[in-house]
Amino acid sequence: MKKVAIITGITGQDGAYLSRLLLKNNYTVIGLVRSKSSSSLRGLNYLNLTSQIVLEECDLTDLSQILRILKEYNPSEIYNLAAQSSVSLSFAQPIGTFQFNTLSVFNLLEAIKQFNPLIKFYQASSSEMFGEVKHLPITEDTEFHPKSPYAISKAAAHWICVNYRESYNLFVCCGILFNHESHLRTDTFFVKKVIREAIKIQKGLSDQLRVGNLDIKRDIGYAPEYVEAMFKMMQQPKADSYLICTGSSVSLKYIVEYVFNKLEVPTHKIVVDEKLFRPSEIHDIYGSNKHINTSLNWEYNHTIESLLDILVDEELQHFTV
Ligand code: NAP
Repeated sequence: MKKVAIITGITGQDGAYLSRLLLKNNYTVIGLVRSKSSSSLRGLNYLNLTSQIVLEECDLTDLSQILRILKEYNPSEIYNLAAQSSVSLSFAQPIGTFQFNTLSVFNLLEAIKQFNPLIKFYQASSSEMFGEVKHLPITEDTEFHPKSPYAISKAAAHWICVNYRESYNLFVCCGILFNHESHLRTDTFFVKKVIREAIKIQKGLSDQLRVGNLDIKRDIGYAPEYVEAMFKMMQQPKADSYLICTGSSVSLKYIVEYVFNKLEVPTHKIVVDEKLFRPSEIHDIYGSNKHINTSLNWEYNHTIESLLDILVDEELQHFTV
């Protein structure tokens, strides 16, 4: 019989790539959406997956709605990717971000505990939870010092997961993901925005790119490879938390200049605007992927240049304003 997996946040970047991977592994995929009529299926359509997925409306802040879905489909795995995932937006909407990003996790775990404690659960934790750290690289043992409402919400959700794993012996994996990109990133996220703006300037549709602090450094990987790590950790006999990262960081300045040079757009079109600086910022962050490498045999296969080449080429092929 086919295994059933539920994905929350299926309309997001990771939801689309994870759906593709689970379908390839012969799962029936149930995608939970806020609203069938208004949710964007852009990512699923782009990967030609929409007709192979069962979409169900579910308000993750309502425990009874989740229980209804579990009773109907009795999944063996749930991947919880739904979240208000923008750090910038979380400064404008801190309470809403915290409420959704934590309550949804509580409800999903309560539903598992009440309905079938054998259901495996994956939580999309974030490297943002670590904030400004004293020592690099970050490991699974590094202390959290979250520096944004988003990071605080993800840290709380992470501890909810660890608590349900330890208190009720549920199979709860936390993938602590560092930034990862793809063509399916929404246009507001940094790398995607830089690439699109550079193309617009190249085509004469825009005159300059305004950016915030370019001196900060980030550990940035490729989304389709990161979803493989999510899947792998859920196939282990024991649940655990794992960092998913490339193992090194790169400055945002390097990224912007690489993209502009690749597209032959003059770099004087990049304008640093202090109004775009965040209220608090992490200066440098990169993780060690030793744990996931040795335990799951997962390896990251790109350089920042090969990643940017893929992203720029794919954007050029599909560019629309
Ligand atoms: P994304 O593209 O922003 O997608 C977020 C998903 O969450 C969308 O499907 C969105 O649905 C859903 N969502 C947002 N608010 C919701 C709400 N109130 N109710 C129901 N659904 C809601 O995120 P992603 O890049 O795929 O990331 C997946 C997960 O990994 C997120 O939890 C994110 O925080 C975490 N993460 C991402 C990164 C990264 O670099 N991408 C790094 C670390 C952790 P709608 O389409 O309805 O808006």
